[in-house]
Amino acid sequence: MAARYSHLNSIPSGRNVRIIQDRRVLSDAYVPETLPGRDEQILMFEEHLEPLLFNEPPSHLAFTGMAGTGKTAVAKHVLRHKSEELRGAPVRFIYINCSQANTSYRVMYQLNRAFGILVPPSGYPYDVLEDNFRKAFLEADVRMFLVLDEVDLLVRRDGGRLLYSLTRMNYDLDLRRNSVTVLGISNTLNFLDRLDRRVLSSYNPDRIFFQPYSADELYNILLQRARLGLRPGSWEDAALRRIAAKVAREGGDARRAIDLLRMAATLAEKDRSGKLTEDHVEQAEIRVDESEVQVAIRTLPFHHLLVLKAAVDLLLAGDPRPGTGKIYERYERYARRFLVSPLTMRRVSAILRELESQGIIEIEMSYGGARGNTKVVRGTALPPLRLKEILNEVTRV
Ligand code: ADP
Ligand code: MG
Repeated sequence: MAARYSHLNSIPSGRNVRIIQDRRVLSDAYVPETLPGRDEQILMFEEHLEPLLFNEPPSHLAFTGMAGTGKTAVAKHVLRHKSEELRGAPVRFIYINCSQANTSYRVMYQLNRAFGILVPPSGYPYDVLEDNFRKAFLEADVRMFLVLDEVDLLVRRDGGRLLYSLTRMNYDLDLRRNSVTVLGISNTLNFLDRLDRRVLSSYNPDRIFFQPYSADELYNILLQRARLGLRPGSWEDAALRRIAAKVAREGGDARRAIDLLRMAATLAEKDRSGKLTEDHVEQAEIRVDESEVQVAIRTLPFHHLLVLKAAVDLLLAGDPRPGTGKIYERYERYARRFLVSPLTMRRVSAILRELESQGIIEIEMSYGGARGNTKVVRGTALPPLRLKEILNEVTRV
């Protein structure tokens, strides 16, 4: 009775329109077996861990680099291999993400759990948690290698005291048997410069830097995902090249490149043409840009919305480069209409700068016109008509 199910495979045009074979591969949580473009960092990290093979303590370490440069992926990749290689050795690898555990308490809570101690997730005396952990660690009689991912979030909130007390522990340990090594991973480049001198001298890590990916590196990352997750032959090479070039220009963030690939592949599938092309990438880019601008507009304060509305309406009325003066006049009218008292000209001028730094509009200085030097709006992130639609949706202004 196989014929009953034959419709599942028969496609009207006779072509296969499926593009995505394994959506998991295009998701954020997936870490592939190899990491193109990161050989150097992987090698450095592995070499750094070598002392553990001889039962010696490795020194502390820091990964720095912008978001999406593969820091988390490299850390997980190497830990996975090393914990296999060191299975049975007195070594404990622990990974904690400080975007979830962003206080000393929460990190210490995770450390308790890692050593099998169950404590309440909040409201317990911190000192007891720390004592628990120290005792359990000594009892386990191991070397601990602790990864604190996004550690800058912890330090921003709680200062460096946890980093200090963890790294200080080594001064009281018998280093022939036990040691604590910390790998701090940070998305901010100046993380180490901002640490307290006392903390830095106790932590004092070796550093591995993750530079933004180049277009070629991004292309290889995308090609790997396409091979693992898309139907063979279902993509044009030019589509991957286009994503790689765009994302390299915008800062080399691999997460963004993979997001674009997933979105473009989804659009291509809806299209039912059976092939992922540059056109689909272009559509995906527009959607990504749009959703970013939408989010930015949605969170603007009310007066910012009115200033933006004034600028957009002037553009739509045919003024190609509306200046601060005209924008202010219109903004004032809108403010009155909404029964709020208008802000000063100076403040509105500052708001225009803020709208620019959010990537919603572009401004430039116009020198020596009838009004002297003034700011003018010379471009917008999306076509003005589209901005107006978004403003209407968001604000009903
Ligand atoms: P970071 O921690 O530096 O912000 P991640 O390691 O989380 O960056 O990487 C972001 C995304 O890009 C993840 O989905 C990751 O799997 C992927 N990725 C990053 N670098 C590579 C690489 N060299 N090869 C394959 N995938 C990568
Ligand atoms: Mg990360």
